[in-house]
Amino acid sequence: MDKRVRVRFAPSPTGPLNIGGLRTALYDYLFARKLGGDFILRIEDTDKNREVAGTENYILDALKWVGIEPDEYPGVGGDKEEKYGPYRQSERKDIYLKYATQMIENGHAYYAFDSGEEIEAMRQREAEKGNSGAKYNHETRDSMRNSLSLGSEEVEKLKAEGKNVVIRLKMPTNDEISFVDIVRKEVSFKTSLLDDKVMIKADGMPTYHLANIVDDHLMEISHVIRGEEWLSSTAHHIYMYTILGWEPPQFAHLSLILKPVGKGKLSKRDSAKFGFPVFPLDWKDPESGELLFEGFKEYGFLPDALLNFLAFLGWNPGTEQEIFSLSELVENFDLNKVVKSGARFDIEKAKWYNQQYLMAKSNEELASMIEDDFKNTDHKSLAIFCGLMKERVENLNEFKSKGYFFFEKPKTFDEKTISKKYNVNNDTHFLNMSEKLQALDEFKTENIQQIIKGYIGDNELSFGAILPIFRISLTGTMKGPDIFATMELLGKEETLVRLNEGLNNFKSLI
Ligand code: GLU
Repeated sequence: MDKRVRVRFAPSPTGPLNIGGLRTALYDYLFARKLGGDFILRIEDTDKNREVAGTENYILDALKWVGIEPDEYPGVGGDKEEKYGPYRQSERKDIYLKYATQMIENGHAYYAFDSGEEIEAMRQREAEKGNSGAKYNHETRDSMRNSLSLGSEEVEKLKAEGKNVVIRLKMPTNDEISFVDIVRKEVSFKTSLLDDKVMIKADGMPTYHLANIVDDHLMEISHVIRGEEWLSSTAHHIYMYTILGWEPPQFAHLSLILKPVGKGKLSKRDSAKFGFPVFPLDWKDPESGELLFEGFKEYGFLPDALLNFLAFLGWNPGTEQEIFSLSELVENFDLNKVVKSGARFDIEKAKWYNQQYLMAKSNEELASMIEDDFKNTDHKSLAIFCGLMKERVENLNEFKSKGYFFFEKPKTFDEKTISKKYNVNNDTHFLNMSEKLQALDEFKTENIQQIIKGYIGDNELSFGAILPIFRISLTGTMKGPDIFATMELLGKEETLVRLNEGLNNFKSLI
């Protein structure tokens, strides 16, 4: 029987989850779901010095917001938790040492006692000999203080002293470690170029490398899908699996997400530079509460639009279809179609996705999404408003910023157009039209349109001389939804008041 598919997302809580991390989580989720497997969140918090408060909650909140909540994570997982948990590595601290010790007993690992300065001195020494970038490995380990180079008495003494005692993996001198990566296909590393990674640190905590493979094994992870920065570590990981006699999971390393300009890795600084989020949710300073980075959610993105956009950063189904719901993504996702090259973070494409998703929502749904911003407006009017605006906005916040004039008088007026279009001689016409509108029993779009268009026709006026004046007096701008529908939503009284005020103001502007 094939192994059950179990895929984990294993972030370190060293800062908010960025968009690259969220894409990894999404691919983990899609792959697991497609194969009917489990999606697990494991918190890799072995490096307490780098931990940033609030990150773990942020990660979970972000996953929940986009709708890819893991099946197992700290505190959650039902009956599985007993078998596979805990899901925070700091709570598993006692598990790891025995595997490192086992590797020592089998001759595949050793104790080392070097201080940071001693390691630095070794690098200097080697550099002077022309060996720059020297590593702690087969070339240098004999010149260092470790259980391979020192006599057993000395080793016992140093272990008992307990200063700088670490356990290192002893990589073979001249071997080749090959594996088939699902994205990169055949990958191979010469062990002569790899370092003897620390597995247990001086403080007794495991390093990422040891904890990662032990947990993947004990949690019965079948597939490891992660960023390409971990590709070279995979050689170490595969080697550790081999010497422990364990079957390694299958690996898939995802390419980087590149800056909008296409070169270099997307970074958090790009957010400010391009005026666009690179985090799913707002990230605030855990102590002061100051907003450090804006999130897609607060920027007005719909979570399904963000997911669809992210899914396409490095994968495509090979067809023309671009809009995929989460369940369609699950159905169509294929790790074999994930590309090896970096994926450009195309901001315009992200906006396009959001627009598509906004337009596909019903007016009522949109009204519910933005109602907190419009507390004094009833749901029905808000839904009509959403219907008028939804093709004109790229995100939820723009309903307010672009359509605020439905709820309050315009704050600014397009003076350039006024000076071109306003003609004092037309005031009597506006007055006549106002009277006709005033007399309307049913202030509805079609009736309003009939009156205004009819009047323009009957009096041989031009639309270009009349409609812009209506529009600007009511909304302040030339950009906006259908002007007759706008009037209906504003209501008769407000429409006529604004028109009248507009005409009075425009005189002074020209
Ligand atoms: N803790 C690692 C990270 O934060 C996980 C890498 C992996 O998935 O193995 O990127």
